[in-house]
Amino acid sequence: MLDFLGDLKRTHMCGALRPSDAGKKAVLMGWVNRRRDLGSIIFIDLRDRTGVTQVVVNRELNAPAHEKASSLRNEYVVAVIGNVKQRDSDTVNKNIPTGEVELVVEELRILNESKQPPFLPGEAVLPNEEMRLKYRYIDLRRDVMQFNIEMRHKVSKAIRDYLSAQGFFEIETPFMTRSTPEGARDYLVPSRVQPGSFYALPQSPQMFKQILMISGFDKYFQIVRCFRDEDFRADRQAEFTQIDLEMTYPQTDTVWGVVEGFLTAAFKAAGHEIKTPFPRMSYDEAIRRYGNDKPDMRLPAMVDVREAITPEELEDFATKFRVRKEFPVQLIRIPHAGEISGTERRTIGTYGAYQHVQGPSYVQLMTDPKRFAKDYPSLSEKIVSFGKIEADDLWLLAAARAEGTGADPSVQNFCEKCGFLRLDLAQKYAAKHKAFEKTGDPAKDFRFLWVSDFPMFEWDKTEKRWNPAHHPFTTLHEEDMAKLEANIDSVHDPKSPLGEIRALAYDVVLNGTELGSGSIRIHRQDIQAKIFQALGMSDEEARSRFGFFLEALEYGTPPHGGIALGLDRIVMILAGADSLREVIPFPKTARAVDLMVDAPTPVSEAQLKELGIQIRK
Ligand code: ASP
Repeated sequence: MLDFLGDLKRTHMCGALRPSDAGKKAVLMGWVNRRRDLGSIIFIDLRDRTGVTQVVVNRELNAPAHEKASSLRNEYVVAVIGNVKQRDSDTVNKNIPTGEVELVVEELRILNESKQPPFLPGEAVLPNEEMRLKYRYIDLRRDVMQFNIEMRHKVSKAIRDYLSAQGFFEIETPFMTRSTPEGARDYLVPSRVQPGSFYALPQSPQMFKQILMISGFDKYFQIVRCFRDEDFRADRQAEFTQIDLEMTYPQTDTVWGVVEGFLTAAFKAAGHEIKTPFPRMSYDEAIRRYGNDKPDMRLPAMVDVREAITPEELEDFATKFRVRKEFPVQLIRIPHAGEISGTERRTIGTYGAYQHVQGPSYVQLMTDPKRFAKDYPSLSEKIVSFGKIEADDLWLLAAARAEGTGADPSVQNFCEKCGFLRLDLAQKYAAKHKAFEKTGDPAKDFRFLWVSDFPMFEWDKTEKRWNPAHHPFTTLHEEDMAKLEANIDSVHDPKSPLGEIRALAYDVVLNGTELGSGSIRIHRQDIQAKIFQALGMSDEEARSRFGFFLEALEYGTPPHGGIALGLDRIVMILAGADSLREVIPFPKTARAVDLMVDAPTPVSEAQLKELGIQIRK
């Protein structure tokens, strides 16, 4: 028989009671986390989101309650009225904040039963993820999940509070809209009223937030869901949350200041102090020194050792190793990797993402510093001192094979390959060099960075054309305007200087992960038209895709810019979790399936008919 809650009110949460409450009467409500039956005494660990309190039911003192308690099972929901008692010193549980007290039952009400759950929230061993996602409501009862979701709340709130205080308005934008320009596939929603027509779910609120600037709101933000139908990629979600913002009359550093401000608030909410301003780096520099547009600053940059040696030495080196002297000779160094065996050295470059540089590739490696030092003592000495190489560092040189050896790399290509190797090595020796370990020191743990001046256009090898590297509303450096005009009709020319044009676009990067990206936008219709022309987009095509937006640009659009950051990813990092699914209450699998509600599903013939849709088999 179940009891009614009646007008019983809870006085404390399950994590609240302390010795100072001893002698008080308390009413707790929660789940039976565990029941230990010692015969005449039954202990119940009562759990809610704040913690666990030990409840004691003594047959001698309270036979009816004891009888009821005997019927309790895991995850039953109960209310307990009792007296708070300080525990004897030998029964204190130091592992929980309520461990010095217990609640001695006067009355027990069983508010609900529970079937035997497929797994228990209190168990240390996790069931497989499919099970966790199917029974998400049980999984979410686990204290780690409760912690992560609470942290998510705190982080969002800190960001909201910060941005509100800076004069940003939180403004909602539609979910049922039309295709947005982020370049992924859209999720479509069929219209019943206009059969054959579809809404698209927004890949981002990009055009709306720009229109809000045209509409005079000056500063906008939104913590907003975005939808992108992308092929499986690790750690992506079909729907994910962005911290999206836009403001008028900004320079890039105006936007950066806002982001640094709200990240400081967000990290503080999670108990971390971070240092601002973040270091800044151009895209070109990132590629040259890190071989990557989202450098992990916990590892040293690559160094071009050509700077350390004389032209004669370089000549000699290039001839001996059959490498190109016009290309960087990259010193890759993993500090404190310790002793590396000869076999290990010889296999460098043959594992992981880097396998492809062996054999036919154009990257030539020197991985045996000892032998190098023997063969080229002065060169080696110079490199060691220039690269500040220490005795227990792992280091090697990577150079581009001489012409005529089969490949025709660009410097960028070459640097990117070296960058892969740098990261591969860092991963492989992570345990040894410890750069990836948490130290509690934000300057070491959280290495933020701004990367700016991305290329405006990128060459699409398959389609043989230039595409916008960001979305097509990103503006360019004023100094690069002439270059755009001079090359406006070269969308199919791979050698076009379009590739040299720099966008006023930027990414914020943390420990090798891109947290978000944004740009200063095009606010003038004439420039927007030029960009479309350079992208080989006809007037009609541009009008049919973005017509309403282009028209809006013509009604007094102020200069504006903004950015969007991934909230899920930020919370994931702060929670120390290794998957986005650990910080999203109801996530989807890699195949975009919700295992709990079982979506997507086929729909009835009648529903399809109403929408004017026929499924092709
Ligand atoms: N809408 C862009 C994105 O989702 C961000 C921005 O440019 O503000 O990546």
